Amino acid sequence: MGYAALLARMGQVNDVLNAKSLLAWDARTKMPPGGAETRAKQIATLSVMARDMVVADDTLRALDAAEAEVQHLGADTIERTICAQVRDAVSYHRRIPAALVEARAELGSVGQDIWARARAAGDFAAFAPHLEKTVALNREMAEHIGYEGHPYDALMHRFEPGETVATLTPLFARLREAMLPLLRAISDRPAPRIDFLQRAYHADAQLAFGLKMAERVGYDLERGRLDTTVHPFEVSFTRQDVRITTRVNEHWMPACLFGSLHEAGHALYEQNVDPAYTRTPLATDLVGLYAVGGVSFGAHESQSRLFENHVGRSREFWELNFPEARAAFPEQLRDIDAETFWRAINRVAPGFIRVEADELTYDFHIMLRVDLEAALIDGSLAVKDLPEAWNAKIADYLGLSVPDDRVGVLQDVHWSSGQIGTFCNYTIGNVMAGQLYETAIKDKSIADGLARADYAPLRDWMVAHVHTHGRRYTRDELLVRATGRTLDPEPYIAHLTAKYSEIYGLPNAA
Ligand code: ZN
Repeated sequence: MGYAALLARMGQVNDVLNAKSLLAWDARTKMPPGGAETRAKQIATLSVMARDMVVADDTLRALDAAEAEVQHLGADTIERTICAQVRDAVSYHRRIPAALVEARAELGSVGQDIWARARAAGDFAAFAPHLEKTVALNREMAEHIGYEGHPYDALMHRFEPGETVATLTPLFARLREAMLPLLRAISDRPAPRIDFLQRAYHADAQLAFGLKMAERVGYDLERGRLDTTVHPFEVSFTRQDVRITTRVNEHWMPACLFGSLHEAGHALYEQNVDPAYTRTPLATDLVGLYAVGGVSFGAHESQSRLFENHVGRSREFWELNFPEARAAFPEQLRDIDAETFWRAINRVAPGFIRVEADELTYDFHIMLRVDLEAALIDGSLAVKDLPEAWNAKIADYLGLSVPDDRVGVLQDVHWSSGQIGTFCNYTIGNVMAGQLYETAIKDKSIADGLARADYAPLRDWMVAHVHTHGRRYTRDELLVRATGRTLDPEPYIAHLTAKYSEIYGLPNAA
């Protein structure tokens, strides 16, 4: 027993989690509806099995022996890092009583149905008792996990380790301070035309073009594939098999194209984790129990947003790649030029629905959810008052009046699963993408590459500074190593200000 035994054990945990992911991928892409009930049980069983393997006495013995064996090595060596991560995960899972884990799984298993029916009826009162139980259970969970500042910190730990309400509050305040005036200024300006994006685009042609653009930024199809789903996602079964999905709307062509580019960004991360980390804790989230190489949900989202928004929605990208779009859709784009296309895919349109939000309004949907979740957890907001609080924030941020809860507080599936604390990663990903991109393009070879539709230099930089490290460093360590500082919203704000000032003809106030 020792370090080798610990690695062997963690390799098995990774195998079980990959099997779980495969069942989940199949459920969302190929499985007939009849399989849903038994499949949920199969997935739950593998999840419990992985957790049991992490906290097992065998694992602890191997961990004790491994720590003794590697303690003479430097604290930042891979061996010591792996031991520390397993120790953290064991401690995390052992702090949460098994009964609580089961209660949350039980809530999650019934919640989807309760939520779907409540949403269909626009009846928040029908969902409120489930949400009350979810809040109470998560509060209890936070007490067991432990926290220094806010109980919500304990819940975010599973998705965005190290993130706290104390650090998010000033970040959100700064984003609002910069982005609200921009949004207000835009609303007075004429909007770009988008009619041609709503013409009839054949599904097969959309998928072929989406996949081509995913490959263009570096998605390796020898180790990947593209399928269609209602909600796009990426999933990896080690770096050797990293799959993406996208959605197709025959009368809204950006959905498939940018869904493909977004998920390709996630996939690049997984495909480029150091091969030496395969089946180790450096490519396994032992706290969240996912077989994933990215270090946090936010870090993962930085890569999807970077390739979707900074690359895929840039003027330069379409100056170079628009001829191929027109070749793919000769009828639909016959009277459109690259500039018109670029403006259309960047149109800002405040709306009720998070998953349909544009680049500029998306973060407001996230900030309101994070703030409301934190208030529910610390008890300053009661579940019964949630719709009113939600609608007030939508009015405040986006100037919209929510007509009913279907497009308001009932729109997301997340709370039905028993999980709270999942949302902040989207905005952290946006901010991190801005920061990484700003640093990367200071390298002349990267900027030159982008100017000739060669995305390899940019991708290679991301591989070297982000992807290859897998879970070796924390998110902030990764940022400091790559950009010289921890999370900083200014590059993201500068990106949004410059881009939307240009598109909407505002005096650039960056
Ligand atoms: Zn994503």
